[in-house]
Amino acid sequence: MSKKLFTPGPGNIPQYIRIQLSKDIIHHRMNDYKNILFRVTEKLQKIFVTNEDVLILTSSGTGAMESSVINLFSQGDEVLVINTGFFGERFIALCKIYGLNVHSLDYEWGKTYNLQDVKDIFQKYPNIKGVFVTYHETSTGVLNDIEKLGEFVHTTSALLITDCISGMIHHPFYFDKWHVDCALASSQKGFLLPPGLAFVALSEKAKSRLSLSNIPKYYWDYQKYIEYYKKGQNPYTPSISLVLALDIALNSLLEKGIDNIIKEKSDLRKYIESKVQEIGFELFIKDENIKGNVLVPVLANSNYDIPDLVDFLDNRYDISVSKGQGKYTDKMLRIGILSEFTNEDIDDLIDKILEFKAIKYNK
Ligand SMILES: *Cc1c(COP(=O)(O)O)cnc(C)c1O
Repeated sequence: MSKKLFTPGPGNIPQYIRIQLSKDIIHHRMNDYKNILFRVTEKLQKIFVTNEDVLILTSSGTGAMESSVINLFSQGDEVLVINTGFFGERFIALCKIYGLNVHSLDYEWGKTYNLQDVKDIFQKYPNIKGVFVTYHETSTGVLNDIEKLGEFVHTTSALLITDCISGMIHHPFYFDKWHVDCALASSQKGFLLPPGLAFVALSEKAKSRLSLSNIPKYYWDYQKYIEYYKKGQNPYTPSISLVLALDIALNSLLEKGIDNIIKEKSDLRKYIESKVQEIGFELFIKDENIKGNVLVPVLANSNYDIPDLVDFLDNRYDISVSKGQGKYTDKMLRIGILSEFTNEDIDDLIDKILEFKAIKYNK
């Protein structure tokens, strides 16, 4: 069975990567793996635009989020979560579970944060040790400005932790230049791979906090990843097949050029926006300055029954499109563009949506 994934992660896997994934593995304590791990890490540094360490974990994105909380902080530490949606809420939940003292700035879904609010909260709570933020908030399609936040957090003693899980590749990201201390990504979003690998970039400032953390950890202990990396290894058996495929995927992304990918995705996003409006959907985000290029979130108002539409497309045409999340579950359609789609794929999707409308509403 093969489905067209208009979902904001995972997307479809290109054939040259699926071919790699079908090959036999090598052993992760031998020299070949060491060379590949070094080479893959160097390419990841190019993607994050950093000279700092980038660790490879075996997990989906949430594992990486959890790892940042337990490696960089201690119980009782004051932290700030900039919450602009479903994934901001996940950071709040993770910080609370590990006993951090969480302050949050909670914004209406579809809005970005306000820098003055961040400055004010630092005035009020000068002991804040970390700021968590979502770069691209996949529940709403909002792209939060990291550069401007980094400029401010850099002047404090707090660490800036960014969930770039869906933000990577489809938008500019400069780890060093933007003064980010910990950036999280995972294989099934912009990296053209199946889920299973997560990437964590760490600044010197972040690394200096690792030995201070009193939260218990074993599998996620960054210090072990850093130590093992020196000999070209991961502490525990990595997802070898995915690391081998990552090598190929990164070649393809870097050859194509991140700037070109951003342009292509942004054009595709705009094409979808114009098409969906023609058939009666309303764009959830109107402000062009805060739009990401991972998905087009739209509201159906009274024109379409979203859960029915999603089932129709998936069951009848093997086209998977995501519903909303949280309070927008049944009200929003999120048309993801992580897969390598063309305008023709979009036209086809629009035709199928119109067919649904004709069948269901006789119009
Ligand atoms: C996909 C995603 C995650 C992680 O989800 P997993 O299912 O654990 O990979 C976290 N944050 C954002 C913004 C995401 O898009």
